[in-house]
Amino acid sequence: MPKGTYRNKEISLSDKEVGELRQLARSGVRNIDLARQFGIPACSAHAISSGRIRKHPRKTLEERFLAKVQKTDSCWLWTASIRNYGYGQIGNRPGPPIPAHRVSYELYKGPIPAGIFVLHCCDNPPCVNPDHLFLGTQKDNIRDAAEKGRTARGERKKNAKLTRQGVSEMRAARLNGASLKSLAIRYGVCFQTCSDVCRGKTWKF
Ligand SMILES: [Zn+2]
Repeated sequence: MPKGTYRNKEISLSDKEVGELRQLARSGVRNIDLARQFGIPACSAHAISSGRIRKHPRKTLEERFLAKVQKTDSCWLWTASIRNYGYGQIGNRPGPPIPAHRVSYELYKGPIPAGIFVLHCCDNPPCVNPDHLFLGTQKDNIRDAAEKGRTARGERKKNAKLTRQGVSEMRAARLNGASLKSLAIRYGVCFQTCSDVCRGKTWKF
């Protein structure tokens, strides 16, 4: 997790470092020397040593995130601000707010590559349960929405029987020895589609 940050946006010191800085200041070390030692501006060193900057570190993103989540047996419901398409959002000053499900993904599963979407396998936009989130492209997003009936039925494509999640599961099952025929039946697709998916000819991601 990131270090506790203090209110001055120029500096980022942990609690321990702030404690050390204050102790050194009390023992007579000059602010200019403290600034050099901690790699911060002299005015910030003065602000910290004199106690002008607040004592308590800002809450981490994860703490702020969890404070707004109501966990249920399946979905984690976002209880704070909800914006476009029912997705939750969380403040991220000085930048704009960020979608809560993306924050969840990054906190618990890992970085989101540029241009990639975080999709819900539970089809519940305010849900932020990391286990219900997976990565996909805009194309997957549209296909996913079509499949789950969020867009006009006419937009259903012939491949809409599969989701990214389904494809991942299918490939994993295939690697574990499941036959193409059994997978085709399980996922409601034809043998050829199943074969193409498992060989990576289609659904490249
Ligand atoms: Zn969910």
